[in-house]
Amino acid sequence: IIECEEATAMTDCIFCKIIEGQIPSAKVYEDEDVFAFLDITQVTPGHTLVIPKTHVANIFEYDEDLAAKVMTKLPKISRAVRRAFPDMLGLNILNNNGQAAGQTVFHSHIHLIPRYQGDSDGFGWSFADNSKSYTAEEFSARAAAIDSALAQEEEA
Ligand code: AMP
Ligand code: ZN
Repeated sequence: IIECEEATAMTDCIFCKIIEGQIPSAKVYEDEDVFAFLDITQVTPGHTLVIPKTHVANIFEYDEDLAAKVMTKLPKISRAVRRAFPDMLGLNILNNNGQAAGQTVFHSHIHLIPRYQGDSDGFGWSFADNSKSYTAEEFSARAAAIDSALAQEEEA
């Protein structure tokens, strides 16, 4: 999986080409740092992708500055999507990282997926409840593992 992702060079990145205008897109927003356009599949009407202009493959490659530049734009783009699609009842914000997580384009992108009335509006996901399948100790150990990994992250 990692090999596949690393093989995706910026020069043949479809989203870098969209930013450069070499491939057409239905642009909805652009500033110095961010580009947003309609996802071609339109999982639901108004389905939009928000991408950093800087090529990063996934969440693991962002620094805080780039993350701030991209994430701070999400509320206003989300409100614009809601304003443009008044039937929208909710919005899922989704970001796939790695092939195992369903990522198919290895230029990081954030999906804005408007949700509409009805059980089958085009988008679905499931959250398993595994709360019966671990012990309190295992639960605490998982939190401790992430907590100590974060300490290492700060040192790096
Ligand atoms: P993901 O599976 O999270 O990597 O999402 C990639 C998304 O990019 C998919 O939902 C595709 O429909 C979308 N996509 C791929 N190529 C294009 C394109 N040329 N224009 C708009 N959306 C695209
Ligand atoms: Zn790219």
